[in-house]
Amino acid sequence: MNEKFSRTIRLTSGAGILTLLASSLMVISCSSSDDDDGGSTATPIGLPSDDDPAAGFSAGVVSAAHPLAAEAGASTLEAGGNAIDAAAVVQFVLNVVEPTSSGIGGGGFMGVHLAADDRTFFIDSREKAPAAASPTMFLTCDPACDTPDVETIGSFTERATSGIGVGVPGTLLGVAHALENYGTISLADALQPAIELAENGFAINERLAMLTASDRTSFWPETSAKFRDENGEPLTAGFMLVQPGLAETFRRIAAEGAGALYTGEIAQAIVDAQSRFRDEVGARGAGRMTVQDLADYLAADVVERDPVVSDYRGFQINGMPSPSSGGNTVTQILECIEQFPIGDVDGGYGPGALNTLHVAAESMRLAFSSRGVWMGDADLVELPDAGLVNAEYLAPRCAQISVDSRIDNDAILPGDPRAFDPNFPPTAASNVSSASEEPAGVDTTHFSVIDGEGNVVSYTSTIEGTWGSGITVPGFGFLLNNELTDFNSAPSANAAEDEFDPGANDVAPGKRPRSSMSPVMVFQNGGLVAAYGSPGGSTIINTVVNMTMNLVDHGMSIQEAIDAPRFHTSGGSVALEAGFDADVVTGLETLGHEVTTTFGEDPVVLGSVQAIIVDPSDNTQFGGADSRRAGTVIGLPR
Ligand code: GLU
Repeated sequence: MNEKFSRTIRLTSGAGILTLLASSLMVISCSSSDDDDGGSTATPIGLPSDDDPAAGFSAGVVSAAHPLAAEAGASTLEAGGNAIDAAAVVQFVLNVVEPTSSGIGGGGFMGVHLAADDRTFFIDSREKAPAAASPTMFLTCDPACDTPDVETIGSFTERATSGIGVGVPGTLLGVAHALENYGTISLADALQPAIELAENGFAINERLAMLTASDRTSFWPETSAKFRDENGEPLTAGFMLVQPGLAETFRRIAAEGAGALYTGEIAQAIVDAQSRFRDEVGARGAGRMTVQDLADYLAADVVERDPVVSDYRGFQINGMPSPSSGGNTVTQILECIEQFPIGDVDGGYGPGALNTLHVAAESMRLAFSSRGVWMGDADLVELPDAGLVNAEYLAPRCAQISVDSRIDNDAILPGDPRAFDPNFPPTAASNVSSASEEPAGVDTTHFSVIDGEGNVVSYTSTIEGTWGSGITVPGFGFLLNNELTDFNSAPSANAAEDEFDPGANDVAPGKRPRSSMSPVMVFQNGGLVAAYGSPGGSTIINTVVNMTMNLVDHGMSIQEAIDAPRFHTSGGSVALEAGFDADVVTGLETLGHEVTTTFGEDPVVLGSVQAIIVDPSDNTQFGGADSRRAGTVIGLPR
């Protein structure tokens, strides 16, 4: 029996704040992944196995990486709010209770499905480079880089914790846009639970306590004062974290609207905060944002984008387009994987089987090589986006994959999709350069919400690295992102004379850094059947691929799909979470893959998936959440 789905827990709140909760809510906490129910229904996808006593839900489900956020979102649904309202509440509460990962100092991609209109789109609130940004701003030779000297100003971490890494934030504009256009509650109402939690405090969990030991809480005094004790030591679990500055910021936004963050005193405080730089980097590490950049983002507002749709074995995976590489890369990987009988246990393609891991890893290697050259902010660089996911373009690439050998590193090439995109202007040089992978942070958060009407939000939200830039805006209590470090640290555009490189991810004024965030919404026969996503930098893409195979090919329940060990490669070694058979590791190595089970000194842990599932036969709703963090699902029976 699956313990997770059999527990109905009466909600309690350590802080005594969440008084809105009704006893009809059901909480499914995520404990360790110890269940093995054997077979489960393979169609449609993600349903609990037959012997699972889980009652599904029909009045809504919230799945978030912290129980207090899930509770606040579910309370919003119960009070009559829709999925967009609940998502707004979840985002603001996460800013308080999971400050490492997302908030109004960051950006994100909110996938939205509106049931009545049958409309599916993404709200893009990605951070932008300021107007004074330049392609060489991370280099010592800037601004006169005629012969680019590729020495960077400081290490990756030093740049990431200086103002130069801070992008103009978008999250508040994204949430405000969603509420104004598709919600039913005001921004002020959506902020209320977060204001109360920030003001009254909450007991920090083990994960947040552990993360306060990060260097990034020690570089800047306001962050250290807030997230360390009076001796500068990390906090311990159970510590009551009270955040008056953040509460005050939220109150001002509640009173004045989103403009309160983008103009006036708070805008000036943001600009001052990002003018800081680590000593190791020197004055070149000062951020270039001005109050005009903030005013410009407010005036331009966020953008709504159509999904990239990947057809995978009869399911339509709706993913995030440019400026994310998520949708295009997931599509490329699934296109290659689809030629193999994943799920055929007898044929050696079961979950965790050698063939499954090998052909998927090969698909990942090919897609990631393409990502490095061809993906970025297509609003500001001409990119052959349509060519990238064209089936004719991908067919010969996918045909390189063989089940019994590994493609040589030399043969993993970015490809040339230009001719497959009718809108891409002709270019002279025919050779294509091969880009290298930039390092990326591994934080962020994903949450999924469905309401009783079938409206869905699938939202990946970030401040980039854990603790973002580590810079807390003085007096206002929120962390600034370090999203600009997702750009190329040195420009790649046509760096070699005879090679074409569009510089897809080179820094430019007003440009959005390339992301890997991949919130998805999955449809079958026109109906939404699943929504999921994950944090994890470039590993996000492969976590979404793992999830898709687990649900579609391996017939796992949503919780089994989340709990199953995951694997990742972006071209180098294949990273495995704990739980794969030793034979499979040996098999991969025999094929020529380098395998790793550690990132630095830590065991590989990939992502944190929060998901919802819909049974199309009767619209019953289910949720799943990740025990890799404090994932929590709360559902509302009708
Ligand atoms: N900055 C990353 C991206 O946009 C997300 C942060 C993470 O999960 O590492 O792809």
